[in-house]
Amino acid sequence: MKVRAHVSMLFHLDKCIGCHTCSIACKNLWTDRKGAEYMWWNNVETRPGSGYPTGWEDQERFRGGWAYKDGHLDLRLHSRAQGLFRLFFNPALPSLDDYYEPFTFRYSDLFTAPEGEDQPTAIPISMVTGEPMTPETGPNWDDDLGGSPLYAKNDPNLKALDPEVRAQLEEIEGVVFQYLPRICNHCLNPSCLAACPSGAIYKRAEDGVVLVNENKCKAWRMCVAACPYKKVYYNWATGKSEKCILCFPRLETGQAPACAHSCVGRIRYMGVLLYDADRIPEAAMVPDEELVASQLSLILDPFDPEVIAAAKAEGIDDGWIQAAQNSPLYKFVKVWRLALPHHPEYRTLAMMFYVPPLSPVVATVEKALRGGQERELLRLDLPETDLDFELYEGLEKARLPVKYLANLFAAGNEAVVVPILKKMLAVRILKRQESLEGQPTEKALKVLADAGLTLEEAEAIYRLTTLPTLEERFVLPPYHREMAAEVWKDPLAAKGEAGFGYIQPPLRGE
Ligand code: SF4
Ligand code: SF4
Repeated sequence: MKVRAHVSMLFHLDKCIGCHTCSIACKNLWTDRKGAEYMWWNNVETRPGSGYPTGWEDQERFRGGWAYKDGHLDLRLHSRAQGLFRLFFNPALPSLDDYYEPFTFRYSDLFTAPEGEDQPTAIPISMVTGEPMTPETGPNWDDDLGGSPLYAKNDPNLKALDPEVRAQLEEIEGVVFQYLPRICNHCLNPSCLAACPSGAIYKRAEDGVVLVNENKCKAWRMCVAACPYKKVYYNWATGKSEKCILCFPRLETGQAPACAHSCVGRIRYMGVLLYDADRIPEAAMVPDEELVASQLSLILDPFDPEVIAAAKAEGIDDGWIQAAQNSPLYKFVKVWRLALPHHPEYRTLAMMFYVPPLSPVVATVEKALRGGQERELLRLDLPETDLDFELYEGLEKARLPVKYLANLFAAGNEAVVVPILKKMLAVRILKRQESLEGQPTEKALKVLADAGLTLEEAEAIYRLTTLPTLEERFVLPPYHREMAAEVWKDPLAAKGEAGFGYIQPPLRGE
């Protein structure tokens, strides 16, 4: 057993309000630079939707992540030999059209327009050419409802949905959607790192943050293609690749990452997870339906004396072990089993976790005539207290289909998602009954037991979900100078350069 510590983030999707404050916080801090205009290290997607860059989950085209075949893992992008052959030709790269042409507005038009009948407007200006342009797409173009009929249909996670369910979803997708905030997953088995011919990408041993060493980056851009989440970006001005750095200069000074700290919905949690690095290869090499369980089996119990001894032997100090014991991530991911990695089938062992969203409170269906055909449709007029019970019994009719969530977070395995939704519903039922009836009804307690929760667990889940303090949401470990080689650098001194650990100006190809 080789114990390592990982600083991870958890997104409670039930709470995300899609305000994009996180994206703006990250942009203002790290990517408001030349060549980085189109980069959104943190972005928030509306789902069903096609994401950013458009269609990034289509690995037939973008060839990201790992393929598991005949007992071994290979990069989807290419084999080692093919990599040499294709060094100067990488057909799997997204183009600017897949991202978008970054634009700003000529605000001066608002002040200098001649007097006229109409209100003056600021004309969009391309940040690539500096010329006026008509924006046709953007990083969250299908936000909420704008453009959804077009974008939602192209969501690859809708594949494998029963055609009837899909038709229903498309019919009502005007009223059902979820938000999906995304940052780099700082994976345990990063394909970006494996694909880099220059060895420029590394995963820090002390906290698991995946970084690009800009001194070594030679602009091959294999990382951009090989990252299945499309979270490595190429800076055309500096000739270097860049990505989310998990705000490590903030972590090292005891602050939560900017996107997490600024989150309006307070959906984000940060904490330490201890894991067994020796078992990474075997965890990534199991059939799709077992991937979630095998990844979670890597996460170790921070209270187990054997784990503690092994952690200390690896140089993990008491402060970090204590942080792992108090970690909200450990509770959500391992104790309550409420959180899942994104697209485990990419086999990169993503270390950011998601609590999947519940369907809206009023979700229930009835048979009705629509377009001459009998269809199951939403009904919103049941007595309020019955709605959640009905949903609990009939999750297969939830407005966000379980299969869809399973395709996002469980390699299509619905059996992984159902118990999570049941637990969340059971807590919702319990708390609602308490506030409506003054105490939980027998029916609510039965549902709780059926979901596999005790009253104490339900209370703890409720508390950490709805009422956590800042200190409970972000349990950050104490960094030590001797653990973190770059801790002494001033984050702001490097702003405007190409990342950290790198103070001199970047030169193309250097
Ligand atoms: S952790 Fe920091 S660098 Fe990464 S997406 Fe959030 S704000 Fe950006
Ligand atoms: S700031 Fe928080 S609530 Fe707002 S979009 Fe980002 S993750 Fe969601």
